[in-house]
Amino acid sequence: MALDEVIITRAIVDRYHEKLVNHLDNDVIIVGGGPAGLVAAYYLAKAGKKVALFERKLSLGGGMWGGGMMFNEIVVQEEGVRILDEFGIRYREFQPGYYTAGSVESVAMLIGKAVQAGTEVFNLFSVEDVMVRDDRVCGLVINWTPVETAGLHIDPLVVKSSYVVDATGHDSEVIDVIQRKAGSELMTETGKIMGEKSLLAEVAEKATVDCTKEIYAGVYVAGMSANATFGANRMGPVFGGMLLSGERVAKLILARLEEDNK
Ligand SMILES: Cc1cc2nc3c(=O)[nH]c(=O)nc-3n(C[C@H](O)[C@H](O)[C@H](O)COP(=O)(O)OP(=O)(O)OC[C@H]3O[C@@H](n4cnc5c(N)ncnc54)[C@H](O)[C@@H]3O)c2cc1C
Repeated sequence: MALDEVIITRAIVDRYHEKLVNHLDNDVIIVGGGPAGLVAAYYLAKAGKKVALFERKLSLGGGMWGGGMMFNEIVVQEEGVRILDEFGIRYREFQPGYYTAGSVESVAMLIGKAVQAGTEVFNLFSVEDVMVRDDRVCGLVINWTPVETAGLHIDPLVVKSSYVVDATGHDSEVIDVIQRKAGSELMTETGKIMGEKSLLAEVAEKATVDCTKEIYAGVYVAGMSANATFGANRMGPVFGGMLLSGERVAKLILARLEEDNK
């Protein structure tokens, strides 16, 4: 059969258009496709929710690919191992309580399972602003990353969502924009982003999970963004907290969605 280049083009344009239009309104939008965002997306999509994930870069995986200082192995502590099992990621015990996994396999499996569970991924999109109604975030303002990179003077578009997860890592970009523009306080001790503290793995890993919560009406933080906004420590290349934070934020939002539907 002869290949028609225009049909190839139409297939891509039509299919992409279908995806985008279907996700103009969502149950949950995850901003950031690092480990925390991918795990959250997986559990939410698996529960049947309409989930879109917006990632600034071409590839998903955030800071997980590089393991520790480009040695492509990650460490996961005992508590996180059940999530490795859930995602089918192979691991080995290094010493009691410390497990290692290949960072490339880890990212590949997180992405594969999140997408196959039903998450729609929009890569090369940057979330640059929020839409607030009655002191609650109800949508996000998005633009193509190349528009941002080139500094082009092009207006963004908007997508709606019942809930948003800021899984943007250290910079907690969604929360940063809320702090600058929304005019009301964040749900932290100071009402503002408290800033990340220096490296202390034991404390930070627990804090990542404890700080995974709602920070502004309709918006939750997960992963490193949780540590940064609630003033917790960083932890270095141990990833159990990121995985558990993704699971926790999914559980919290599923409970909220159930409440909302009563
Ligand atoms: C310089 C540097 C130092 C680090 N040091 C540490 C450390 O000491 N301890 C530690 O635990 N971790 C560190 N990390 C990150 C580490 O890899 C994380 O532990 C882990 O990857 C965090 O997972 P996460 O899912 O929270 O976020 P990340 O893996 O960081 O993923 C966040 C994702 O969000 C995307 N994103 C960000 N903003 C937007 C936006 N506006 N719109 C769309 N997408 C967006 C990013 O492109 C990225 O893919 C470091 C990362 C960097 C870059």
